[in-house]
Amino acid sequence: MVTGDPISAAVAACSQCGLCLADCPTYAATGLERDSPRGRIQTLALGVAPRDMTGPGFDGFWGCLACSACHEVCPTGVDVAGAYGAARQLSLLDERK
Ligand code: SF4
Ligand code: SF4
Repeated sequence: MVTGDPISAAVAACSQCGLCLADCPTYAATGLERDSPRGRIQTLALGVAPRDMTGPGFDGFWGCLACSACHEVCPTGVDVAGAYGAARQLSLLDERK
């Protein structure tokens, strides 16, 4: 990853504290970690993304509503929506290769 891009910045800034979970509408709907801001950042941190994420198993990735509710409550200012916007663009570019 390139230092300073939105994905690397989000991964580096997330302390996994979980303070954002109560404000995330998709986590409220499913209760699944993968659908939480913390889970989404963990997906990026593990290097699962960005690649082709259009297949089965990536519902949590595409399910982010980009509402930024997590960003508003995050003590370290993690921009999940920004990171996922960048990752989704890279994934779609990958898919077209
Ligand atoms: S995104 Fe922010 S609030 Fe959520 S787990 Fe990471 S550091 Fe905590
Ligand atoms: S931007 Fe995505 S991860 Fe953050 S609160 Fe909204 S739906 Fe949840």
